[in-house]
Amino acid sequence: RKGSVIITGASSGLGLATAKSLAETGKWHIIMACRDFLKAERAAKSAGIAKENYTIMHLDLASLESVHQFVDNFRRSGRPLDVLVCNAAVYLPTANQPTFTAEGFELSVGTNHLGHFLLSRLLIEDLKNSDYPSKRLIIVGSITGNTNTLAGNVPPKAYKDSKVCNMLIMQEFHRRYHEETGITFASLYPGCIATTGLFREHIPLFRLLFPPFQRFITKGYVSEHEAGHRLAQVVSEPSLTKSGVYWSWNKNSSSFENRLSQEASDADKARKVWEISEKLVGLA
Ligand code: NDP
Repeated sequence: RKGSVIITGASSGLGLATAKSLAETGKWHIIMACRDFLKAERAAKSAGIAKENYTIMHLDLASLESVHQFVDNFRRSGRPLDVLVCNAAVYLPTANQPTFTAEGFELSVGTNHLGHFLLSRLLIEDLKNSDYPSKRLIIVGSITGNTNTLAGNVPPKAYKDSKVCNMLIMQEFHRRYHEETGITFASLYPGCIATTGLFREHIPLFRLLFPPFQRFITKGYVSEHEAGHRLAQVVSEPSLTKSGVYWSWNKNSSSFENRLSQEASDADKARKVWEISEKLVGLA
């Protein structure tokens, strides 16, 4: 049978490119978990994803109630869950006032970390029940959350913190569940995809200069197509089954196991973030 993969935030950018890349192999059915149904439908159509290869299901990660509803709906669909990709994110670089989720958490930590934490904790049961030979839970990271990089050393910001949480939680999942379940837990930095909607809240001059800056100066630029291809590898490549790993790609586009900063690999901190997050999302 086809593999069955949930991708959050598949209505644009990396998530959409990954859905497209997986659909083209003919080996995957993609559940696009999106907050805007119409936008997701248009995106899937314009990316040319064949109808039989995807299903759109509503998920708003900025509401824990919506996360529970999504899990119920998914279970009612009767589909197995073989791979879960936590990809969606918001980035609010110019906001001078915080905004909040339905439950009152700061929006980027609430969406990028807490919503995904609850989703993953609930769906781990479904992953366990799947008979797929290589089950995976992937959390998209960023160098911004990796404090051994230039981008990770910008002053503490909610987006950066949310990405540190993403990477800590991936490793904590690995420690708590890998041996018992055989599930592969992984994170990745797909490269700087300077053209996605992630930078939509930035000032216009930044949006104008950032793609050429990444392309010609830092040379960290990757196209959405290439980034989608990279995340699709982490979903499906038989060679990328190692658990607890943070994947990156070198200039020749070959994958390698990257090193995490001290902060992003602090096991003590990971356990604390896990325990606090359990309380915040109502699991403890
Ligand atoms: P986009 O803004 O294009 O995509 C983000 C997706 O998340 C959108 O589909 C958006 O939905 C969705 N989303 C946002 N809030 C919610 C919510 N409350 N509930 C459900 N979905 C939501 O950005 P990217 O594709 O660039 O980002 C994807 C991932 O890649 C993120 O985890 C980001 O941190 C990571 N990343 C990106 C890099 C880059 O250079 N762009 C570099 C490193 C990591 P909608 O379409 O409705 O707005």
